[in-house]
Amino acid sequence: MKPDAMMWDAVVVGGGPAGLSAAVYLGRARRRTLLLHSGHSMAKWELDVQNYLGFPQGIAGADLLDRGLSQALRYGVDVVEDNVDSLSVAEPFRLVGREMVYEGKRILLATGLTHLPPDIPGVKECLGRSLFFCKDCDAYRVQGRRIVIIGWNNEAAEYALGMLAFSPSVKICTNGRQAVWDGIHAGWLNEYGVSVSSLRICAVDHDGGWIGSFTLESGELLEADAAFTTRGDVAHNRLAAQASAALNEDGQVVVDHCMHTSVPGLYAAGCLTPANCQMIIAAGQGAIAGQAINRSLFEESLCRHALPTGGSPTDGVESRRLMC
Ligand SMILES: Cc1cc2nc3c(=O)[nH]c(=O)nc-3n(C[C@H](O)[C@H](O)[C@H](O)COP(=O)(O)OP(=O)(O)OC[C@H]3O[C@@H](n4cnc5c(N)ncnc54)[C@H](O)[C@@H]3O)c2cc1C
Repeated sequence: MKPDAMMWDAVVVGGGPAGLSAAVYLGRARRRTLLLHSGHSMAKWELDVQNYLGFPQGIAGADLLDRGLSQALRYGVDVVEDNVDSLSVAEPFRLVGREMVYEGKRILLATGLTHLPPDIPGVKECLGRSLFFCKDCDAYRVQGRRIVIIGWNNEAAEYALGMLAFSPSVKICTNGRQAVWDGIHAGWLNEYGVSVSSLRICAVDHDGGWIGSFTLESGELLEADAAFTTRGDVAHNRLAAQASAALNEDGQVVVDHCMHTSVPGLYAAGCLTPANCQMIIAAGQGAIAGQAINRSLFEESLCRHALPTGGSPTDGVESRRLMC
């Protein structure tokens, strides 16, 4: 049987850049804060984060998370590794994890999303090494290399066209799908000399995750040093949906400028929201959410006449004298 629920001012679900950043803000605001996470931050996939401010030599995503965790612990945040199965909206909110039940006056969902890798056998080993999802994160590191974009829609066409700023060798492979880009995009691909293969990829040939070529169904080799895919994302929005928070057509949680969802007291930050999915943006959104939650708890205490009372400055001086 699960033990009785424990109660916090704020419960943050998610231990990626968004959740950790919010936890640091809430801990430093002296709020009783719990961070729950299942240990699967996408940041772990990146071996060398080059676009996070303050690390000119780059930093492994896993190291960045370790540093964030130590920072949150330093400010008194409780951290529990647990997978949260359900969230119910009540006063307080109630979260049922696999290990325990948790209650919080405010909840921040920072559960992120998963980028879908292409449907190619053996490709997972290449993730973060030579197979990427994000031009802003990874185009810089593959300059001048042979690049394949795996995709079949307008987004894939624009990806390929954008990559021409980094390499003259850019091709698209639709991996057996019918290309669905429109006439304007087809015209641009033609104008800029981006070749397109519509054959299915049967295998990836790589050395320790570093791609050398793709084998097409014809037996032909499509040589490449790096690939980008635009297959799509799966937003981890189950808890938000259980709370009836508004989602957009991509399944991301709709938030206002304070990261507040459509449900009073429920906040969301990071890649779970419609923001561009970047670590520094997730961390920034976490900070905004942490500040907003703190403000909302403060306002509630004011209205309920529940703030700690102050003594007169003289009292303080007296007690310091007494302590001495
Ligand atoms: C291969 C790869 C390379 C990347 N490279 C870069 C890069 O160079 N630069 C960059 O800025 N970004 C990069 N990214 C994107 C980056 O990883 C994300 O922007 C970032 O991790 C998003 O942070 P987040 O906090 O929103 O979500 P995440 O970091 O994904 O964290 C989500 C957290 O929620 C937890 N969680 C989810 N569901 C539950 C649940 N039910 N119960 C408990 N916990 C739960 C997870 O365990 C995890 O702790 C890369 C991504 C990939 C896949």
